[in-house]
Amino acid sequence: MDDIWFIHSPRFDEIAYPDECPFRTERAGACLATVRRLGLIDESRALVEPAPASREELRRLHEEGYLQTLERSESGQVDERSLWAGLGTPETPIFPGMVEYASLASGATLLAARAVADGRVRSAFNPSGGFHHAHAGRAAGFCYMNDVALACDELARRGKRVLFLDLDVHHCDGVQEFFYRRRDVMTLSLHQSGRTLFPFTGFEDDIGEGDGEGYSVNVPLPPGTDDVAYLRAFEAVAWPLIGVFDPDVLIVEWGMDTLAQDPLAQLQLTNQTLATIARRLMTLSKPTVHTGGGGYHVENTSRGWALLWAEWTGADTGEDLVAGLGGVLLGTGDWLGGLRDPPTIIEPSVRAAVDAEVDAVIAHVKRRVFPRHGLNPS
Ligand code: ZN
Repeated sequence: MDDIWFIHSPRFDEIAYPDECPFRTERAGACLATVRRLGLIDESRALVEPAPASREELRRLHEEGYLQTLERSESGQVDERSLWAGLGTPETPIFPGMVEYASLASGATLLAARAVADGRVRSAFNPSGGFHHAHAGRAAGFCYMNDVALACDELARRGKRVLFLDLDVHHCDGVQEFFYRRRDVMTLSLHQSGRTLFPFTGFEDDIGEGDGEGYSVNVPLPPGTDDVAYLRAFEAVAWPLIGVFDPDVLIVEWGMDTLAQDPLAQLQLTNQTLATIARRLMTLSKPTVHTGGGGYHVENTSRGWALLWAEWTGADTGEDLVAGLGGVLLGTGDWLGGLRDPPTIIEPSVRAAVDAEVDAVIAHVKRRVFPRHGLNPS
């Protein structure tokens, strides 16, 4: 069995959202170029090209009328159904190739899910995935088709217990909605609080309903949350729940919009924290699908994903992978320290306020969710 696949199509490089839209499809290709330059990929084995998801696959979660509206809108027939479907806004613009791009992104994450479930590969990375805001009949937040929910559903249909861990800075409202009343798919999201950020959902008390009560878990974090506070929340809430849920398969969304310089959000992470979490998750030895997600500082995002790739392939030793060479190798002048971000400096007064709020959120979520899984909340 191969260890890991990098799933990518040249079409992901060729289709672009409009220039004025902050979502840049080129991030995936830029990440691949970085891992190539660093010699971290054996392309004959690890680089795998996806096919678009079929209509039948998309209809498992998306409404047929919505899929038709997407196609009609792209071909220029924009009407009130386009507006109901959320199309034609700055965050979900109508652009040439949007249906192909979204179908291909969904096909790529479905391919990853099937490959890890079948034991063809241990884990698979689709950096052009993670469209967690797409709803059954509505586009939102740069997302048209919910590839990660489709992959969770595909695995659940095979009888797998699925953990969807969302580390994007935004709450996974679309994915949570699909599985809110189910316990075969646990959604676990750490994100900047909906009090201050789109999609304004994902609060401590949103824990699932009916059969799914306790299986939707949200850890909303205040602006300014840094590496230390974020890791504390991960260790206190996510790690014990992952252990007790004991999933058959993990799907992890690695949005890089948590990073300190992201222009759309206000968390203050470095990619070193994400690398630490990547190593932690690898100790579980579970089949894992990795996807991209947000990330609106293009270079930091592709570099962050390249660092994760170095973790997954065992190339990163915990020290700077290419200290001093990074700027040259990556073709960027803004950070010369290799793949790892420089530390962020947090003012003590900001840190104290953030720590108090994060600790309160941790305590609240543990109280609401842990007893449902036989875990001690104190
Ligand atoms: Zn995001």
